[in-house]
Amino acid sequence: ADWPASGASSLPVGMLAPHVSPDDALLSRLTRAGIRATWTELVRLLEEGRDWCATGVLERRPDGDVRMPAGWSSRGPNESWPADADRLAAAGLTTDTPAIWHARAAWVKPPRLIAAWLRQPGVEFRGGCRVERLERHPDGWRLFDASGGLLAEADRVLICAGFESGRFAPSLPLQPVRGQVAFGPMPDDSTPLPHTPINGDGHLVAQVPGEPGDAPMWLAGATFDRDSSSIEPSEADAAANRDRLRRLHPAAADALAGAESQAWVGVRCASGDRRPLVGPVDAEGTGLWACTALGSRGLSFAALCAELLAAQWHAEPLPLPAALAKALGTQRL
Ligand SMILES: Cc1cc2nc3c(=O)[nH]c(=O)nc-3n(C[C@H](O)[C@H](O)[C@H](O)COP(=O)(O)OP(=O)(O)OC[C@H]3O[C@@H](n4cnc5c(N)ncnc54)[C@H](O)[C@@H]3O)c2cc1C
Repeated sequence: ADWPASGASSLPVGMLAPHVSPDDALLSRLTRAGIRATWTELVRLLEEGRDWCATGVLERRPDGDVRMPAGWSSRGPNESWPADADRLAAAGLTTDTPAIWHARAAWVKPPRLIAAWLRQPGVEFRGGCRVERLERHPDGWRLFDASGGLLAEADRVLICAGFESGRFAPSLPLQPVRGQVAFGPMPDDSTPLPHTPINGDGHLVAQVPGEPGDAPMWLAGATFDRDSSSIEPSEADAAANRDRLRRLHPAAADALAGAESQAWVGVRCASGDRRPLVGPVDAEGTGLWACTALGSRGLSFAALCAELLAAQWHAEPLPLPAALAKALGTQRL
């Protein structure tokens, strides 16, 4: 792409919320570790209220299952628990709605976080150069464009090309998953739109400050189309998102019926087990690495995966327990 944050990461606003399961499954522990890593970066680099906001997230559980790992409660050190009636009422939901409240959760504008990361010392962005081919040499790798021009030489190459990563690492089990969301300026009467993001079968983020001079915005989604990498907006997907919003938050669906809205489409990159793939691409130590398959959770995993890579490359302590690091590694395949 010509600019940073042009792939799936150009999402106007995303949600950062942990996965929770009664047995505190691997994915639950990984998302917590990931959110801690992202949070540090959000606090360090961004302006709260403009680029991100620690709103918490309310997660509806359509199957009624709000079981938590043993001992978790609002009085413990954990950061998710069943939502109480006050929390539900404040979000405009009926007080008997089965839901979980995630205190360490937020909305984030991914392009702002990426811009901040790219401003760090030692980073150089080169846009508009599509890598067509990688070639291995005794002293490292050479990257070529479609007309055979040399783009770069390096002893280490990291493949992080979203759903196109498989072109350079065919051994990784990657799948494109197209997704569409609707977003737009907040309508004049925005009272029914919740101040905390709502998750569940679909999601809604509202009351998000717009760019300077623009109205605050809302965003609702998202569709999941496995094996599709088309980025053409579709009316069928827009209708599916409207239905999803009606089930998720009927008052918001009413408030947004007929409101100005646009579609945004992106393509996720998913692995077979829904966990990122981070580590060497081959067993021979050729210097070819991957950091991909962030799936629907780029905000939860990108910072943690980067920390993990840095720790491995520089023989530093891992940013998470070894068993969890292994669960993200390409070596698990
Ligand atoms: C509808 C939708 C909603 C989402 N909502 C959320 C959310 O609420 N919260 C959340 O955490 N995540 C969300 N995600 C997921 C998140 O957007 C992704 O996990 C994340 O953006 C992936 O980042 P990435 O850098 O791996 O890939 P991308 O952002 O897709 O970047 C890949 C980059 O590689 C470049 N590239 C590809 N091929 C080449 C090549 N040959 N040469 C050079 N460059 C190349 C592309 O141009 C692109 O810029 C959502 C995704 C979608 C689609």
